[in-house]
Amino acid sequence: MRQKNYVSGITGVVIASMISAGVSVQAQQKEYPKPEQMKPGMSEYWTPQPSIVTPGVASAGAALSAPSDAIVLFDGKDLSAWESPKGGPAQWSVHDGVFTVEKRTGDIQTKQKFENFQLHIEWQIPENITGTGQARGNSGVYMQGQYEIQILDCYNNETYVNGQTGSVYKQTPPLANAMRKPGEWNVYDIIYSAPIFKEDGTYRIPPYITVIQNGVLLQNHTAILGTTEYIGFPKVAKHGPGPILLQSHGDPSPAISFRNIWIREL
Ligand code: MG
Repeated sequence: MRQKNYVSGITGVVIASMISAGVSVQAQQKEYPKPEQMKPGMSEYWTPQPSIVTPGVASAGAALSAPSDAIVLFDGKDLSAWESPKGGPAQWSVHDGVFTVEKRTGDIQTKQKFENFQLHIEWQIPENITGTGQARGNSGVYMQGQYEIQILDCYNNETYVNGQTGSVYKQTPPLANAMRKPGEWNVYDIIYSAPIFKEDGTYRIPPYITVIQNGVLLQNHTAILGTTEYIGFPKVAKHGPGPILLQSHGDPSPAISFRNIWIREL
């Protein structure tokens, strides 16, 4: 049974103050529903359910295969997903399930353009690497063709920290040096969100990037300030979806290789 004439302590105080103010008590005794008691299910929701993704599988020493919903950008067979930014096919050399930078022919980029994504890419500094500083296995992976995450052999090789492996080039140094030694495969897992621009072409929301190398966090939701210039400071210019671009760097050291590249659009 619902209890009649129930008056809470607080209500009692209010009524008492009303009496003293000369307000009719009878008019103020109306009861209103009390809030329902909180139950666990009231703060749980069930839809929409996340889509089921079958994770990749890694056998000992081998590459982690792509999850079921990824766009495979290189599966060891050919560069059909890639092209030259100058036009025409990507002309880097595919062999033994990997591809190697062909410095004569310049950068390559994906045919498909992207905005927000999770990117997995594996790269190897050759065992016979030479050179020092930036001239030792230099390459890079560019988000939307604009923003470079540095690839470099930083295993026992010092350089300016905002140009180190995993730096947002010339902007933000990595949080750690997680290099494997030349001849071993390094893995980048990159989470990137595209910028949103104002009418005037500046960022309303800048691009953000998270970079994990070999399971170690290098960039933690880092705001990108603009393009990653070799000379000068970042530039901001309005752009739309863009490709993943891999850098052919002009240094004379032996070329690096890539394998197992896939992307999940977010
Ligand atoms: Mg580079």
